[in-house]
Amino acid sequence: MDDKFDAIIVGAGPAGCTAAYLLAKEGLEVLLVERGNYAGSKNMTGGVLYGPVLSRVFPDFPLNIPLERPISRHVLTFLSASSAVSLDANAAGTEIHNGYSILRAKFDRWFAKQVEDAGGIVATGLLAEDLVMVDNRVTGIVAGGDEMGAEVVIAADGVNSLMAQKAGLGVRLAPHNVNQGVKEVIKLPPEVIEDRFNVAPGEGAAVHYLGIGTEGVHGGGFLYTNKESISVGVVVQLKALMEHNLRAIDLLESFKGHPAVKPLIKSGTTVEYSAHLVPAGGRDMMPRLCTDGMLVAGDAGAMVLATGRALEGINYAMASGMAAAETVKQARQKGDYSRQSLVQYEAMLADSFVFKDLENFRSAAGFLDNPRLYRAYPDLVCGLANKIFEVDGQPKKKVWQVVRGELKGRVSLWQLIKDGLAARKSV
Ligand SMILES: Cc1cc2nc3c(=O)[nH]c(=O)nc-3n(C[C@H](O)[C@H](O)[C@H](O)COP(=O)(O)OP(=O)(O)OC[C@H]3O[C@@H](n4cnc5c(N)ncnc54)[C@H](O)[C@@H]3O)c2cc1C
Repeated sequence: MDDKFDAIIVGAGPAGCTAAYLLAKEGLEVLLVERGNYAGSKNMTGGVLYGPVLSRVFPDFPLNIPLERPISRHVLTFLSASSAVSLDANAAGTEIHNGYSILRAKFDRWFAKQVEDAGGIVATGLLAEDLVMVDNRVTGIVAGGDEMGAEVVIAADGVNSLMAQKAGLGVRLAPHNVNQGVKEVIKLPPEVIEDRFNVAPGEGAAVHYLGIGTEGVHGGGFLYTNKESISVGVVVQLKALMEHNLRAIDLLESFKGHPAVKPLIKSGTTVEYSAHLVPAGGRDMMPRLCTDGMLVAGDAGAMVLATGRALEGINYAMASGMAAAETVKQARQKGDYSRQSLVQYEAMLADSFVFKDLENFRSAAGFLDNPRLYRAYPDLVCGLANKIFEVDGQPKKKVWQVVRGELKGRVSLWQLIKDGLAARKSV
């Protein structure tokens, strides 16, 4: 291990590519190791890239980046067994887009190419099997049976981080804090997509669903429009799958068959299928993020925000990749890669939206464990809407009487108030 890299980054997802790109651009000798045959081949996102974080790395964003469609419609739909009610935030006609749909196979591959163009080495098809440790200090990795040395290792190897486990950083994955996602990409002509989702040419929609399946499992569904395809999927808590003895794939099938979903994907051809885990426990499941010679970024550090609205992980991954790169640059100037020096990474994250959001929404995971969110409330919303618009030749009831009638047998008024207060506090 005579020849050392300045930094070895494990995992070419958004966290690893961001860190590797920024360090390579600074002239550091960087090795980015990815187990997939190409970056993105093993990755999965719904996926919408939310917010402008990428523009901090690539100032000409959104130009020259393989984005699918700017999202001009954000929709939240409640499903009962046979009906649906939607809240539709339609920003058509404005120039402001707070998200772009992406396909990870294209996006991650493009990102890894930027790392190479900046002078970094990207080694794909290479699994990092272990860490090299000397006196409890990380000094490199073992990959393909070889030891490779580095001043610092950045573990950006995703949700089930082998690197963080090997460093003994206290990884806390458990069925209650991990969700299983399954997704299909369904090919359709662009004009059909625009017609069905009521968006202008080139624009897109993100639709989130509450109330998938009949069992009321902790989870939700999504439909995102890409240029020439639709991403359709479900994300379900592992514990809920185990308790209900269900498979995520079966939930996806029943979701696709729902009368409000089926017409949107009708006559499309499935061109991709993927499954992936996502950390959902936020701050409470976060491992330690640094040790002597190593930092942890992105999903490997459980930096995903799950508040029931949408899953946001990519911008947190990129922001942590940026903070990791900055920390390594400063450590290099000091010539000190010890934990005391690297710990400023946590201070940077604490100062940014990453820790602020995860702290602010710390109690969201507990709130989202409420089973009423997934069956009783979607049924209630759908039942209410149907009754309010129903004309049956009988004397009409005032809205409050309709509400009382629909609550009966589903949720007590006291439970509704308690859940409302809990929602106010946590999400
Ligand atoms: C179903 C689903 C829907 C989602 N939807 C959204 C969304 O719409 N918007 C959003 O912002 N987020 C979404 N997320 C979350 C988002 O995908 C993640 O938060 C994000 O990908 C994290 O990036 P990362 O770089 O930390 O990890 P990853 O993207 O998981 O990348 C880790 C990389 O490390 C590689 N790797 C792992 N182990 C090794 C090893 N030992 N050696 C070498 N390489 C290794 C993997 O192959 C992978 O390429 C979703 C997640 C799921 C599962």
